[in-house]
Amino acid sequence: MASRANSPEFRDVAVHLHPYTNARKHEEKGAMVIERGEGIYVYDTAGKQYIEGLAGLWSVAVGFGQPRLVKAAADQLAKLPYYHSFAHKSHEPSIALSEKLLQLAPGKMSKVFYTSSGSEANDTAVKLVWYYNNALGRPHKKKIIARIKGYHGITIASGSLTGLPYNHRDFDLPIANIMHTACPHHYRYAWEGESEEEFASRLAGQLDEMIQREGPDTVAAFIGEPVMGAGGVIVPPATYWEKIQKVCRKHDVLIIADEVINGFGRTGKLFGSNLYGIEPDMVVMSKALTSSYLPLSALLMNQKVYDGIADNTAKIGTFGHGFTASGHPAATAVALENIKIIEEQDLVANAAKQGEILQRRLRALADHPLVGEVRGVGMIAAVEFVADKKTKAPFDPAGAVGQYCFDRCQEHGLILRNLGDTVAFCPPLIIDEAQMNELLDRFETALAETL
Ligand code: PLP
Repeated sequence: MASRANSPEFRDVAVHLHPYTNARKHEEKGAMVIERGEGIYVYDTAGKQYIEGLAGLWSVAVGFGQPRLVKAAADQLAKLPYYHSFAHKSHEPSIALSEKLLQLAPGKMSKVFYTSSGSEANDTAVKLVWYYNNALGRPHKKKIIARIKGYHGITIASGSLTGLPYNHRDFDLPIANIMHTACPHHYRYAWEGESEEEFASRLAGQLDEMIQREGPDTVAAFIGEPVMGAGGVIVPPATYWEKIQKVCRKHDVLIIADEVINGFGRTGKLFGSNLYGIEPDMVVMSKALTSSYLPLSALLMNQKVYDGIADNTAKIGTFGHGFTASGHPAATAVALENIKIIEEQDLVANAAKQGEILQRRLRALADHPLVGEVRGVGMIAAVEFVADKKTKAPFDPAGAVGQYCFDRCQEHGLILRNLGDTVAFCPPLIIDEAQMNELLDRFETALAETL
C-alpha cells in the first residue's frame, strides 16, 4: 500500500533542498510532482490538469511536448551527443545558431559566447566587462550598475547584480564593484503628481549623479531587463530607456540588455530592446531560446567589446574562460529548431494578439478591492494586491495574500507565480484565444475566492 513516506511528494522531501522554497514548510507540505506536459498544460501524478500560466519559469515558449524539439535533440544526440568549443573546436549546430542569433539580436551584435543558464551568462558578462576594461588599460573602470528589483540570476556575480533582498541576505552579497540604482516602477516610486515622463527623467538624473559621484572612469556598465520580470513584472515609462541610454553613452558606460525573459517574443516584440529602442553593447539570452527543453544561454557582444577582448587574448595567449557545456550540440540544435517554430508559427505576433486579451481582461479587474495595480505588456503581466488601494499600503506581513491567491489558482488548475503580493502571468507563447480566456476565467474564480 502506498504510504505518505513512499509517495513521490514525500520521497522528494526526503532527498531535496529546493530552490526558492521554504525548506521547513516543504517538509510538512510535500512536493507538487508534475509528470507530463502537453501544449500549455501540465499534469500532476494524480492526473490533474493545470494551465502553466508562467510557462514553467517564464520559459516554455513553444509549449510542452513539442515533438520537433524532441526530434532535434534526439537526432543531434545520435549524431554527435557532445563536443566542446575549447581550443578552436566547433560544431555545426552552434555555428548555425550563432548566425541566426546575430541576425535577430537587437543592436549590432558581432559575436556569441555560450553558457548554460542565465546566471552563468550574466556572470560571464561581468567578467568580460572587467576583462575588456583591463585590456583597454582602464583597470579602475570596473563598477557595474544594476537596479533595485532587477533579476539577473544567483551565482556570486549575477546574484550580486540581482537587486532583491532575499538573494543577498546571508549569502554575503553583493560583491564589490556592483551597485544598484532605482527601480523604474512608477506606481510604487513616483512622487505625488509626478508624470511617467518626469519620473523617467528623475531616474536618469539619479543614474547620472551616481556615475558622477563614483567617477565615470570607475563605472564600466549598466545592466537591465528591458521589462523587469522576477522583480514583479515592471514595465518602465516609455521614455525611460532612451534617457538611461543617453546617460550611459555620455559616460562611456556599456549597456547590457538582459533579455532572458523578454527575448523571443514575450513582450509582443522579438526582444524587449526592440520595444524601447535599446542599442545594447551586450545581450543576454536564455529561457525561450530553447523553450527550456535543454539548458542554454547566450551572451552576445558588439564588435567594440569583442575587439578589446580579442586583442587581450592575443597578448595573454588564450582567453581563460569557458564551460564544458558552452554551446552544447544538443542544446544549440534544439534552440535552432525552437526559433524556427517561433518564426513559422509567428509566435511574436501571437504574443501581441493574445497579450491584448491578457492585458485587457486583467485591467478590467483594477476596481477589485484587493488590486492595487495591473501591469504588463504583450504576454507578460502582473496583478499587485494591496491592503489599501488609496494609500497603496502593502499587506503586513507581506506575501500572504499573494500566496493565498496562488493556492486558489492552483486549486482551480492554474499555475502562476506569486512574487510577494504580486501574481505574475507569462503563459506559453502558443496559447490561443480560447485557452487565454480559460486561463483568465480560472484566475477570476480564484480571485473571487481571495476576497
Ligand atoms: N536574467 C533574468 C532576467 C532572469 O529572469 C533569470 C531567471 O529567471 C536569470 C537571468 C537567471 O537565469 P537562470 O535561472 O537560468 O540562472
